[in-house]
Amino acid sequence: MAAYEYETHDYDVVVVGAGGAGLRATLGMAEQGLRTACVTKVFPTRSHTVAAQGGIAASLSNMGPDHWQWHMYDTVKGSDWLGDTDAMEYLAREAPKAVYELEHYGVPFSRTEEGKIYQRPFGGHTTEFGEGPAVQRTCAAADRTGHAILHTLYGQSLKNNAEFYIEYFAIDLIMTDGACTGVVCWKLDDGTMHVFNAKMVVLATGGYGRAYFSATSAHTCTGDGGGMVARAGLPLQDMEFVQFHPTGIYGSGCLITEGARGEGGYLTNSEGERFMERYAPQYKDLAPRDYVSRSMTMEIREGRGVGDGGDHIHLNLSHLPPEALNLRLPGISESAKIFAGVDVTKEPIPVLPTVHYNMGGIPTNYWGEVVNPTKKDPHAVVPGLMAVGEAGCASVHGANRLGSNSLIDLVVFGRAAAIRAGKVVDADSAVPATNTAEVDKAFDRFDGLRNADGATPTADLRLEMQRTMQEDAAVFRTSKTLKEGVEKMDAIAAKLGDIKVTDRSLVWNSDLMETLELTNLMPNALATIAGAEARHESRGAHAHEDFAKRDDEKWRVHTIARVDGKKVKLEYRPIIEDPLTTEKEGGISLKKIAPKERTF
Ligand SMILES: Cc1cc2nc3c(=O)[nH]c(=O)nc-3n(C[C@H](O)[C@H](O)[C@H](O)COP(=O)(O)OP(=O)(O)OC[C@H]3O[C@@H](n4cnc5c(N)ncnc54)[C@H](O)[C@@H]3O)c2cc1C
Repeated sequence: MAAYEYETHDYDVVVVGAGGAGLRATLGMAEQGLRTACVTKVFPTRSHTVAAQGGIAASLSNMGPDHWQWHMYDTVKGSDWLGDTDAMEYLAREAPKAVYELEHYGVPFSRTEEGKIYQRPFGGHTTEFGEGPAVQRTCAAADRTGHAILHTLYGQSLKNNAEFYIEYFAIDLIMTDGACTGVVCWKLDDGTMHVFNAKMVVLATGGYGRAYFSATSAHTCTGDGGGMVARAGLPLQDMEFVQFHPTGIYGSGCLITEGARGEGGYLTNSEGERFMERYAPQYKDLAPRDYVSRSMTMEIREGRGVGDGGDHIHLNLSHLPPEALNLRLPGISESAKIFAGVDVTKEPIPVLPTVHYNMGGIPTNYWGEVVNPTKKDPHAVVPGLMAVGEAGCASVHGANRLGSNSLIDLVVFGRAAAIRAGKVVDADSAVPATNTAEVDKAFDRFDGLRNADGATPTADLRLEMQRTMQEDAAVFRTSKTLKEGVEKMDAIAAKLGDIKVTDRSLVWNSDLMETLELTNLMPNALATIAGAEARHESRGAHAHEDFAKRDDEKWRVHTIARVDGKKVKLEYRPIIEDPLTTEKEGGISLKKIAPKERTF
């Protein structure tokens, strides 16, 4: 048995992750009077949320009429009818409250002339239940909205006496009789080990974009929460739905926000044609991301891509007044200069669909409580465990997320988790005792990796995984590519047994940390490709060329993937069709949100 000495910490709540979701949950838990710790592998304000540019959706009606029901309708349609209706209602209804809260906490939003929060149009956000023109619903702080939110929430969390454990890497969950009772961590800068015992653990570890070769997400987005959950025998949900953002900068993958099209930018092909007018006559460049990414891929396939290789598309902003670019899109103007050598006031930006967001994740209800479906109860809750943000799957994004609906998801469900914890966590009860058997198990795994002496360096295996996912679980998928992908990923996952770690130290050992991250990316990637192979339909971001139609009869269900080593077991559970409130109680009419063909 691997013996490591460790320090113990007892809390009511431990939040793992300090991005927008983790910080909003941390702040809320502390406000509820719960003793709260936030553990994070990077400094809070370096979390990927800091890179969010375009904005946060809420029907404030600051720049034209809007309604929470229109926001809900757009989210339902955007999800291609795979989201859970109760959660989508909760998101749209609570969004304005959550944004005004951010404003009062101090987020420096951009302003209209009258001093209200500035809102811009974003893809798939409409008026009149998809009948009216595009709406200005996305609240923005220039093109640095995530930056503004993250810094504000960190300050507020400190003010409310939440305790931070910064540059602590969570290795594994502690599970006791089916409940989560804590988490085992490694402190990166001095190599010490720490066991956190808690009445509630909240996973807010972000997405797993780095399972792919080209992604807009930070290198730290390695799906650690999903990995921990899979090892604890708990499932992942809807992992086959991976969002490709239409406008990653060609070559670097660095993001150009959808806000660029919201402010009037448009895409062109090699003939200079604004081709989105053909694919989405009503909303054109502001159709949802899955739609635009597929249209761009079609143009490239049909020989109308730009550049020497004809392998990308142009995003045009040079017709916009330089003052507007400077005021509303300063960050992306700089990114275009640095990463593509382009002056946006004069030239188009070369762009390509790039992996951006994971709709799937750890299944939860709309309070953020983790769900482990059983035959008897498809909505059974795991005591002591919550998941919020991109790591979770509530599920409000279903098969495709609308732009600016993630930041609002972070704060609405971070807040909801705190409200729920205020009810289910008893501040006066005893903190669970250390489960030493589970701690030993985590240390054994850690020690095995630390001393791994195989033949395959971590970086090589990671690259193999990333290339396979990029090629075989792409914007368009076929039975053939998916079958090959599953076989290749099987072989790649098996090579984890032959991994080679060269640095055996415990202090700032990035070799070991990246290996731990690879063991987390792997179950996420396996569940993604297995779920995609099994889903014989096309829905949202899952475009299957051999099954080009959506099949509501058979496939309007969530995929539940249990990953044990390299084995993936798939089950399905029904989506939640009922909204929280009936039409009589002021809710949306069921007729309005009944499934229909999704056109724009
Ligand atoms: C470039 C970019 C631009 C975007 N722009 C927008 C936008 O304009 N609007 C919008 O709605 N959405 C946007 N998104 C999506 C949105 O920003 C993300 O989905 C969201 O920020 C994720 O937040 P999070 O809190 O779930 O996780 P993150 O912000 O990724 O934070 C994860 C946290 O978990 C911690 N962590 C992870 N693993 C461990 C571990 N093992 N141990 C300890 N700590 C751990 C990290 O330290 C970090 O603090 C954008 C995404 C990208 C990549």
